[in-house]
Order: sequence, then C-alpha cells, then structure tokens
Amino acid sequence: MPSMLDAVVVGAGPNGLTAAVELARRGFAVQVFEAAPAVGGGARTEELTLPGFRHDPCSAVHPLAIGSPAFDAMPLDRHGLEWIQPDLALAHPFPDGTAAVLAASVGETAMSLGPRDAGAYRRLLAPYLGHWDSLARDFLRTPWDGLPRDPYRWARFGLDAIQPATLLSRRFRGEKARGLLAGLAAHAIAPADGIATGGIALLFALAAHERGWPIPRGGSQAISDALASYLRELGGTITTGTEVKRLDELPPARAYVFDTSPAALARIAGLGRAYQGYRYGASCFKIDYALSGPVPWTAEEPRRAGTVHIGPTAGEIDDALHRAVDGRDPRAPFLITAQSSLVDPSRAPEGKHVFWVYGHVPAGWQGDATEVIERQLERFAPGFRDLVLARAVAGPPGIAQRNANYVDGDIACGAFAGLQTVIRPKLARVPYATAHPAVFLCSSATPPGPGVHGMSGHHAAKAVWRRLRASGEPGRRR
Ligand SMILES: Cc1cc2nc3c(=O)[nH]c(=O)nc-3n(C[C@H](O)[C@H](O)[C@H](O)COP(=O)(O)OP(=O)(O)OC[C@H]3O[C@@H](n4cnc5c(N)ncnc54)[C@H](O)[C@@H]3O)c2cc1C
Repeated sequence: MPSMLDAVVVGAGPNGLTAAVELARRGFAVQVFEAAPAVGGGARTEELTLPGFRHDPCSAVHPLAIGSPAFDAMPLDRHGLEWIQPDLALAHPFPDGTAAVLAASVGETAMSLGPRDAGAYRRLLAPYLGHWDSLARDFLRTPWDGLPRDPYRWARFGLDAIQPATLLSRRFRGEKARGLLAGLAAHAIAPADGIATGGIALLFALAAHERGWPIPRGGSQAISDALASYLRELGGTITTGTEVKRLDELPPARAYVFDTSPAALARIAGLGRAYQGYRYGASCFKIDYALSGPVPWTAEEPRRAGTVHIGPTAGEIDDALHRAVDGRDPRAPFLITAQSSLVDPSRAPEGKHVFWVYGHVPAGWQGDATEVIERQLERFAPGFRDLVLARAVAGPPGIAQRNANYVDGDIACGAFAGLQTVIRPKLARVPYATAHPAVFLCSSATPPGPGVHGMSGHHAAKAVWRRLRASGEPGRRR
C-alpha cells in the first residue's frame, strides 16, 4: 500500500464499487471503506428468514444493471456474475384472472394489452427499439454533460420521457395498458402526474425488450461480489465493518469519493449546509418471505414472471402512491414483487421459495403494513398466507438501519420526483464535485439516480480523473 493513496471511496454499494473499479483501472491506488460487514449496499443477499433461504433485502431484479454501459465495459462474468432471464420480465394481473405482461417480444406484450391498445403500444416503442445502447449512454448521465451520441433519438425520446405517465397513458384506451404503464412509472416512487414519470415507464418497458429484466444467479450479492473481485484484481483494497464518521479519520489521499447520502457527506466532510435543500422522498415497507411452495397466482402469466406488479388499475396505483407521498397510512398499497427462486433454485431448499415484496409508505412511517400487503396478495393469489413459513419485515426505520443512505427509509437516496429527477443533488455543472476540491459524491443522489447500474460511480470517477489531471496529478501506474 503506498503512503499516499490516489483515491479513498466511502461506501461499497454498486456506485462506490464502480467508481473504485474505474479509478483502479486508470492506475489509481484505491481503498474502499464500508460500514456494513459485507460489500454491496443495496445489492446484497442474506439468509434473512430460515437456513437455506437466500433473500435480497434490497434490489432483486436488474434491467438497469444488464443495460448499464459501465457494467458492460467490465468483465463481471469472469468474476462470477451470471444473469438469468425469467420467461416473462413482468406480469401485471387483474382481478378477473387475466394479466398484462411485459415480455421480451413487443408483439407478445402488445397482444396482452388487448386489441384496442396493441397498436398504440407498438407505436410508442417502435422509434426506440434497437437503440438501447445510445439511449442508455445519453440518458444515464447528467443531461448537460456534453452532446448526446444520437441527438435525433435523444430529442425524440426526451419529448416522450419528460411527460407525466398520466399524459402518456392517454394514448391507451383500456385498463390493462394504463395499469401496466402506471405500474412501471411507480418505480419512481412518485405519483404518475409528476414530470418524467412517463420516461421511467418507457425506460423500463424498453429495457425489457432490449436487455430483459434478469436476476443474478445466487442473488444481487453476485453483482457486488463480482465488482469487488474485479477491484481486487486491479489492486484495490476493501475494508468492511468501518463506518466513516470524519474525513480526517481516512488515510491521506488525492481524492475522496462518497457513496453516501448528501446529508452524510456534508456531515463527514464538514460541508455545512451545502445540501440542505435536497429532499428525501417516500419510503417502502419490505417483506421477504420463505414459502413452502410457489405463489398460487390465479392468472397463469405471473407463474412464469420474474416480477409481478400488484395494482391493478392506474387509479388504484396512483391512489397508493399519493397516500405514501402525502404521509397517509397505506390502505391498498401498490406492490412490486419478485420471485427469484422460480428461475434460480439455489435460492431456497428444494421445492421451497423466496418471495420479495415491497409497497410504498410515508417517509419514516412506523406502522406495520404486513396485513394490507398480504390482503393485496390474497386478491391475486388466494391461499398465499397458507404457504408462509417465515417472513422478515422492514418498514422505514428498518430499511434506514440496514443502510444509512436510505434516509427515513427513502430507497432512492433522495426523492426522484420533479426537478430532482435530473437536478440532483443540486444544480451544478458537475454534480459529482463538491465545494471541497478533493471530495466527490458518487451515490444515487447524483445523476442518473437510483437503481443498480453503477452509472453515478462511473461519472463520478470521470470527474475525479479530470480534476486530478487538471491539477497535474493523474493516477500513478502501479
Ligand atoms: C427494498 C429495495 C428494493 C430495491 N429494488 C431494486 C431493484 O430491484 N433493482 C434496482 O436496480 N434497484 C433497486 N433498489 C435500489 C438500489 O438498491 C439502489 O438504488 C442502489 O443500491 C444505489 O447504489 P449506491 O451505490 O448509490 O448506494 P447503496 O447501494 O445504498 O450503497 C451505499 C453503501 O455505502 C455505505 N455507507 C454509507 N455511509 C457510510 C459511511 N459513513 N461509512 C462507510 N460506509 C457507508 C452503506 O453501508 C452502503 O453499503 C432497491 C432498493 C431497496 C432498498
């Protein structure tokens, strides 16, 4: 270990690890400090319930990771990452026993929406099919960071993406297409009448057709372990079980890169009120189940889907999101569920299953949503409760306790709504830089925002490299 490091990274989430890898790849001497006993942050896998049941406490399904330009450029498969694609990316069941689906095929998806909306769905997606690579590069970044690679498609996608999902859904006439779109937009944890919620829905739909919504074999931890293994191969080191409280506790380095919330960064690096205008958003209530069998869905499609959305209509979904954002108790929460062990038997003892569910609740909410969540599940999978062997429950305080980045249980590390969708953590030409010339932020509080894709880490590493190059201190070659 050199006496002076080139970069210290605080936090070993997907963005911290990506920043560390990209700096180490440029010849920097890098050390990562992580508060938790293991690397991964929001991409972890643990036996939360019973022996042999391998649960993902946070992320489970990874359209943005398989579609990430940063991960694409790394040999993560050589470090053990294997993607499994479920038969269907997503099923969205309705009370009459039918379901809309998001399949790899646009045709199959369109047909599931019914004859009135099949054509409208095809027309919505058609301009972007086959262009994931350029769209991902142009949108998974700060919008004003240089010219887009494909200006025509960037502008065209931007015009659709900036719309609220409620406006985009006027292109459809039936409940199925509108429900599907509202469910996709709800990944923003914001009501569907907010700007750019249409873009979230469009991005997730396009990802399903272009790259799929895969699950890593062995669980989300496999992504983090692959990043950590690649980092070590490049000479980087990782110290776990060390919560960083002050900048001067860290070894001397040319740059410090924080995979933390802006509030924690300001506290640790002494940046005062630099981020006091930054808003945190609504939270989630997460349940990880150990089940004695697969979920007994009434409809056939959810039985072969990696992800199942429980809404069902755009109206119900919007009501659930408004309640969470407005600070009201959940009544019939919109649920995002994942069934990893359907495609990866290594996740549970033979014949048994793990099941991953979350619904939205207000920030810092202290209640117990187990009953309302299970009532929703029973509507679409009667007999579900009879299969429950054990459950691990985490409301906002539990989610925040698992990871300091999830302030009051906000899993997006800052509301992904309104202007904060693109201007995060605050308006700046380089949002990864801070008032301290050696201190940088790389967490999902920076563009392009939440999700396991490593793109915030990728752009932050670029900012570090540029700063050190400009000051005549580029990384040493080891
Ligand atoms: C319930 C839930 C479900 C989700 N589902 C999905 C999904 O299916 N797909 C998807 O793509 N995304 C999902 N996400 C979001 C995703 O997990 C995050 O957006 C992503 O992990 C953010 O990565 P990050 O590196 O910015 O931060 P994090 O992953 O949060 O990592 C930050 C790391 O920094 C560490 N840290 C913080 N402060 C300190 C300190 N002071 N000292 C040392 N270490 C510190 C933390 O312990 C943590 O390990 C989900 C999140 C949750 C909570």
